[in-house]
Amino acid sequence: MSIERILLKGGCVLTLDPDIGNYRTADVLIEGSKITSIGPRLKVSDAEVIDASDMIVMPGFIDTHRHIWEGILKNIAPDALLEEYFRDILGSLAPVYRPQDAYAGNLVSALGAIDAGVTTLLDWSHIQNTPEHTDAAISALQESGLRSTFAYGTPNLDMAAWWHNSSLKHPDDVKRVAKRYFSSGDQLLTLALAPRGPEFTTFDVSKHDWQLARDVGIRISVHVGVGMAGKHFKLGEMGKAGLLGPDTTYIHCCTLSDEELQMIADTGGTVSIASPVEMQMGHGLPPIQRCLDRGMRPSLSVDVETTVSGDLFAQMRSVLTLQRAQINEKRLAGETNLPAILTSRDVMEFATIEGARAMGLDHICGTLTPGKEADIIMLRTDRINVLPINDPIGVVVRGMDSSNVDSVFIAAKAKKRRGQLVDVDLARVRRLAYESRDYVVSKAGFTMPAI
Ligand SMILES: [Zn+2]
Repeated sequence: MSIERILLKGGCVLTLDPDIGNYRTADVLIEGSKITSIGPRLKVSDAEVIDASDMIVMPGFIDTHRHIWEGILKNIAPDALLEEYFRDILGSLAPVYRPQDAYAGNLVSALGAIDAGVTTLLDWSHIQNTPEHTDAAISALQESGLRSTFAYGTPNLDMAAWWHNSSLKHPDDVKRVAKRYFSSGDQLLTLALAPRGPEFTTFDVSKHDWQLARDVGIRISVHVGVGMAGKHFKLGEMGKAGLLGPDTTYIHCCTLSDEELQMIADTGGTVSIASPVEMQMGHGLPPIQRCLDRGMRPSLSVDVETTVSGDLFAQMRSVLTLQRAQINEKRLAGETNLPAILTSRDVMEFATIEGARAMGLDHICGTLTPGKEADIIMLRTDRINVLPINDPIGVVVRGMDSSNVDSVFIAAKAKKRRGQLVDVDLARVRRLAYESRDYVVSKAGFTMPAI
């Protein structure tokens, strides 16, 4: 059987690959699951031609940290501070989750991510209340067709025992999961470990947990520098013990010391900034410039849909405006020799290739490059919210939102076309989301926000 070929024809192509450049008008050829050629007026026969005129064609967005089991709790705690989120979401609602609630949360959030042009996501899954919860969460990821990393976390049954200087070790069930679901490298789904950071456990537990990831041979994704908890040099102690490495992505990092951030940079670690969450929930100031000063270009993450939106447009704008505000404030105060202000191109890279790097997937996705998988989005430029198009990069970052996401391809498979998700029974997803939401809210005795 011949390989299927798709030609995305006549779009404005932002490859974000510095060796290839961007095109006002070009074609992208996909063969099988991969991009094979990019350029103006490609001569191709036997391909399914998709009209990309009035579209920006670019790599899909990459979210490097989201707790998607919370998908059934979208915007349920819009004004919550971190301590209220711990009390209500993790302390009260999570413990009553059944496996089917983890499934429903994962499914509705994963599909929402695809709808918003996210093609790759790290599911930081701390809802491993039983092995059945784990299996349910993974099965929703598989069903969604998202390229994803399942970052295996802890049970969410007892906040005090698991998160307050915990002496409980990370569950060994990750070994079963690795064997059962991840023995093939040739799939959309990969595995990582989501241990609690050293701020939340004893030193010995952190050491054990990180060793567990390395024994299984998987990457680590960890929360550090979170509010007051990050001010005790706990990560630094791990660094001094030689436990930090390039296999780790550090989330937030807001309240780490300069020395700790430098340790991350020196050991080749990557960073995930969840700017909207960090600013409003009290994690501390997103350390955008502090990372850039050390040569680390951050990836972006939504973190919790209980409190912020699930698209990367908001993420890019948040990081861009915050960093510029901080630099501009210094400029107004008469300071000189200031760092460069971020550009639209910078944050577009944070939302794509830097995300791929942070997930160890930059050889697979993050730019439009022949040989990489065809994880591609097409954004409509003929909608009234953005026309006329003057600066194609600027318009994506400053002007667009999820309503501009016309098409989403993951490994060349169409997941969204003409503004609609493909092969998704939305009525079923809606029913599952409401049934699970109603169950956990009522079982936990949670009081819904007043209006
Ligand atoms: Zn988080």
